Amino acid sequence: EGRRLATLANAPTRTIDGVDVRLLANAEMPPDIAMARSRGADGVGLYRTEFLFLRQKGLPTEDEQFIAYRDLVLGMGGLPVTIRTLDLGADKADAAGLVLRGEDNPALGVRGVRLSLRYPAVFTTQIRAILRAACYGPVRVLVPMVTQPDELIAVRTLFKLARQELKRENVDLPEKLALGAMVEVPAAAINVRALLEHADFLAIGTNDLAQYVLAADRGNDALDNIYNPLQPALLRLLSYVIAEGRRAKKPVSLCGEIGGDTNFTALLLALGLNEFSMHPSQLLHVRDRIAALDHGALRGQAPRILRARTHEEAEALLAQITG
Ligand code: PEP
Ligand code: MG
Repeated sequence: EGRRLATLANAPTRTIDGVDVRLLANAEMPPDIAMARSRGADGVGLYRTEFLFLRQKGLPTEDEQFIAYRDLVLGMGGLPVTIRTLDLGADKADAAGLVLRGEDNPALGVRGVRLSLRYPAVFTTQIRAILRAACYGPVRVLVPMVTQPDELIAVRTLFKLARQELKRENVDLPEKLALGAMVEVPAAAINVRALLEHADFLAIGTNDLAQYVLAADRGNDALDNIYNPLQPALLRLLSYVIAEGRRAKKPVSLCGEIGGDTNFTALLLALGLNEFSMHPSQLLHVRDRIAALDHGALRGQAPRILRARTHEEAEALLAQITG
């Protein structure tokens, strides 16, 4: 089985009926990058930058960040990498002392881009490091926990100012970088059309989107019967976001845990997803699964799946469809 999977490392990701799917890697540490390459990822769909802020006391310097991002870009050998700006807060505590203390509801508090925008100088250090690293290969920038368009507009402005600053310092600058939004807050998903006017691409974060849609802590085992990716409310939202992205002709990927879980591959293809981002250890499994699925047939089942009234019903339907 392992040997058979290994032969897929250099194979295209294609359904039975010949539809190509992009498989991207979620990465954090250097070994993830090596694994993404060896398993034939089409790029990095989510590079979590938090680890730089969690591994040491105090903030990482611009150069420390630049080196990490440049090594990521070089490590991917010309394939596109998606660097997510700092996503501290809630379940991601920090060593740097940025996260506000004493919030009653940290998951609903100043986290992700909300926190970054509260500290423009800290954020600008990260932005400068990203701009410098982007001279070494194709980079896209992904903004976490976006709720409304003004947050993306503010990030764009900070990028513009950082470019002007670097230019004055005679530092090499990359071409314009694509700026995308994570869709992981229900308001961002429901109002995604407004977001698409300002985002060059979207990445759906189902870990948090499920948590917020269902009002169920993503880490609380006691809520397993509620925190279920097959909840109809979540499926309809996913379907809507994917369809709106297509309508706007902007790429939409999905980088939550279900993106790398072969139990959900057929479902996500049925909903129209064509870019999956996952832990690199899952790449070959998902490629193998996709090779056994009929895209046209699955797409035809989407209306039925979206009519499910409970997650149990959706699960039964899915089992029947993929039988
Ligand atoms: C998500 O929320 O689904 C996601 C990919 O981001 P993280 O798990 O880092 O919050
Ligand atoms: Mg998230």
